Amino acid sequence: MVVEGVGDLLTHMARCCKPVPPDPIVGYITRGRGITIHRRDCRVVQKMDAENRARLVDAMWAQQQEGSRFVADIHLFAQDRKGLLRDITSVFANAEISVLGSAVSRTGVRSAPTCGSRWRSATWTSLGR
Ligand SMILES: [Zn+2]
Repeated sequence: MVVEGVGDLLTHMARCCKPVPPDPIVGYITRGRGITIHRRDCRVVQKMDAENRARLVDAMWAQQQEGSRFVADIHLFAQDRKGLLRDITSVFANAEISVLGSAVSRTGVRSAPTCGSRWRSATWTSLGR
């Protein structure tokens, strides 16, 4: 992680938006807890008042981030079919992604049901696939 202009300070990922490479990011200088890294399009950042905005600093991913582990929310929407969940979980397993939790719901009309899934996952290397 490189945060422009402030050197190598303590940084941690914001829980609100869980940035992962190569998301565009911004740093927020906290009061006493180092720098929190948010996605640039994070709703928390967008709603900041002028006082908090003054604490934002440019940030960019360092090259060695690849292979690092991140927690990310993955939202999947797919046409429902036999074996869909099995196929999704096998993709995660083959990519060695740890699935920390999941929720599945069905939406849409009866003739064309859609399966929407939310997965919490770690390891960013497979997220670009
Ligand atoms: Zn955020």
